[in-house]
Amino acid sequence: MIKQNLEEVERNICAACSRSGRKREDVTLISVSKTKPISMLEEAYAAGSRDFGENKPQELREKQETLPTDIRWHMIGHLQRNKIKYIIDKACMIHSVDSERLAEAVSLEAGKRGIVMPVLVEVNIAREESKFGIYEEDTLAFIEKISALPNIRVEGLMTIAPFVENAEENRIFFRKLRNLYVDIKSKNIDNVTMCNLSMGMTGDYQVAIEEGATMVRVGTGIFGERNYKQ
Ligand SMILES: *Cc1c(COP(=O)(O)O)cnc(C)c1O
Repeated sequence: MIKQNLEEVERNICAACSRSGRKREDVTLISVSKTKPISMLEEAYAAGSRDFGENKPQELREKQETLPTDIRWHMIGHLQRNKIKYIIDKACMIHSVDSERLAEAVSLEAGKRGIVMPVLVEVNIAREESKFGIYEEDTLAFIEKISALPNIRVEGLMTIAPFVENAEENRIFFRKLRNLYVDIKSKNIDNVTMCNLSMGMTGDYQVAIEEGATMVRVGTGIFGERNYKQ
């Protein structure tokens, strides 16, 4: 089932790339495996997935320690400072930097291990009360500030778009984020590469790709519905 789901997602990604004149290799599919058992991740791995997304630090760590070492682990969820230590040497990227205090703490932990952690800045592009993230108008100043930290490198922007019935409703938000990304990239800030735009989930990744996503985060479309009730 997971293999077939991945094949379907892959076809959709290819179609969205060709509709928008983009190359397939310019889009990374992140298989969002939060709450799912190791056996399902193994199935996805066997079907070719090498990028997995998790939102709980301890869960990311446990899965990382169990599964093959060529997997790239993306930390995509809200991160508390006291949990950075669980993932600092396990995650390839943190997609959810949303405060100066968090950026400083990530840099400090990365420094202790002698590494530079790639990060994305989470932007609350639709200004939803319920969501984390920096507002659009504050993003440039925020990035200028945290770019001075020695052990992180800002590689782009991430957003979680509103939950909508029709993915087309989110096109405007993806376009806004892409414009912000291009604008910040053009400033050529030291230590800021702006090479990744992480946007689009199961309901709207095709639209996100048409609007320039370089990373899409797909959970339900690969692993099925999540059951949070235990
Ligand atoms: C859970 C999650 C996803 C995947 O959501 P689906 O709708 O299941 O594809 C993507 N991004 C983030 C940040 C998430 O927490």
